[in-house]
Amino acid sequence: MTSLTFYGGVNEIGGNKILLEDKDTKVFLDFGKSFSRRAKFFEEYINPRTSNGIVDFITMGLVPDIPGVYRDDLMKLAGRKIEKPDIDAVLLSHAHSDHADYISFLHEDIPIYMGKACHLILRALEERSSRTIEREILNYKPRPYSMKDKPIDRKIETFTTGDKFKIGSLDIEPIHVDHSVPGAYGFIIYTSEGPVAYTGDIRLHGSKSQMTRDFIEKAKEVKPVALIAEGTRINEKEREESEELVYKESSKTVSETDRLVFADFNFKDVDRLRTFYNIAKENGRKFVVKLNDAYFLKYLSQDKHLDVPNMDDEGIIIYLPKRGSGTYSESDYKGNDSQFLDLNNTWTAEQIAARENKVLCAIGFYSFTALIDMKPKSGARYIHSASEPYNEEQEMSQERIDAWLEHFGMAKFQSHCSGHARGKDLLEAVSEINAKALYPVHTIHPDSYKKTSKNIVLIQEGKNYSL
Ligand SMILES: [Zn+2]
Ligand SMILES: [Zn+2]
Repeated sequence: MTSLTFYGGVNEIGGNKILLEDKDTKVFLDFGKSFSRRAKFFEEYINPRTSNGIVDFITMGLVPDIPGVYRDDLMKLAGRKIEKPDIDAVLLSHAHSDHADYISFLHEDIPIYMGKACHLILRALEERSSRTIEREILNYKPRPYSMKDKPIDRKIETFTTGDKFKIGSLDIEPIHVDHSVPGAYGFIIYTSEGPVAYTGDIRLHGSKSQMTRDFIEKAKEVKPVALIAEGTRINEKEREESEELVYKESSKTVSETDRLVFADFNFKDVDRLRTFYNIAKENGRKFVVKLNDAYFLKYLSQDKHLDVPNMDDEGIIIYLPKRGSGTYSESDYKGNDSQFLDLNNTWTAEQIAARENKVLCAIGFYSFTALIDMKPKSGARYIHSASEPYNEEQEMSQERIDAWLEHFGMAKFQSHCSGHARGKDLLEAVSEINAKALYPVHTIHPDSYKKTSKNIVLIQEGKNYSL
């Protein structure tokens, strides 16, 4: 009567697409993009063809081939039968691509439930980037489309922790968890066979670890029949890490120089954003954000709990990249970007370089061309505040980063605190919750959970597991 089927997140980090069926109710827990699977077949110059709709994605196994799920326009383009959607909802755990992006392909009648802050992030992402078939989460344009076509909105339902809601035969309780993006949730889902708990992505060493503890407490209390637990770092070596340590190390790095400092981190990680914003303040520097990231400030500052400065905050400078004519002419900044031009805190590379000891630049590798205009002087520094490379592609990027730094004589520093729980914390959390059965997802080492649970299910993709 109640079952789980895993269409993604199986022996891979991310790409979670978990179907929960109970009586006549069907919900997906996340519907994410699998980077590793995509990278198995595609790279820079070979991509799934947009002109072929969803066919390339289905054929290459990037999305499951199941009926009653996808958009009518994509089914039509694929020469498939158009069917009424057979899914009652998607519960989205958080805004990361490996959980959210392939919602893009789903039928618009399937409601998407997400946290309020998650919605703000998706709105910022939508406003700042151009439409692609793999990033149409909040709305989409039926293919083939012309520029003047109006997008079709999906049904978005937002929640916050403490809310409970019903979907068919299921009662759903989202509970906040700490992760490297705000608006991250785990779920307790009350099915006719008993409660099912899903962690989403979690950590217990972050500055808001209490939120993850709240989830663990609740999950333990309800005695779940199934626990679906992430295991990203289950097998990794332990090291000391905390947001506080990133603050301490990086503030020291900044305080020791009166030259240009770049900090490279994921801007959606609001803890990190706050860390560097405060480091800038403490060191009498203004915090320089990229034009692209100003969208996150615009949206995330709307949620008072997040304590994110708005884009016109006196401590914020927006870096205006050279475009079009190369002369910073107003006509070079079209569309949504033009909204930032009227603020009087947009600076060019030259203006930033002229105040090198008064700025901390949240500028990373992808905007390193800024260095050509900024001409950093000896003593300039670069803080890499993201994880060390863990695949070939990232190692190549790392080599390029090093080449740029060497070229401009910048010293490199590394300081990071991961968004994923340490192995020890995961094992403890899972044994504390003590579910009847454990389904590890989002990991390439699911068997490492054997240390803690005798009732572990090593999941196979597409197989149906009755609870
Ligand atoms: Zn993930
Ligand atoms: Zn995540």
